[in-house]
Amino acid sequence: MVDEEISFPVINSELCKGCKRCIVGCPQNAILLSDEMNAAGYQYAYYSGNGCTGCKDCYFTCPEPLALEVHQYKKIVNNEIGRMIKAKVANKGGN
Ligand code: SF4
Ligand code: SF4
Repeated sequence: MVDEEISFPVINSELCKGCKRCIVGCPQNAILLSDEMNAAGYQYAYYSGNGCTGCKDCYFTCPEPLALEVHQYKKIVNNEIGRMIKAKVANKGGN
């Protein structure tokens, strides 16, 4: 049981080549280009911190392997089933 998903891109600044494909491709305008350069001399993309819906367009348009991932987490509802799940996770390894 989940009530919402939390999504955000994780960009490896040292693997990014600053091509801006993810920036142009993000429908939420949630990715920006840094003023600073990485060790290879490229300005790199970074997540603004707001607006990601988890659509993964940025992931599929990035040409650099491992430069960009989209992480998604599910928040557990605080109802009876949610509490059972949390209790089970808390007891994991305890017996
Ligand atoms: S997953 Fe979609 S909304 Fe989130 S940063 Fe990538 S393109 Fe933008
Ligand atoms: S698409 Fe990939 S390589 Fe291009 S700016 Fe975005 S993260 Fe960097």
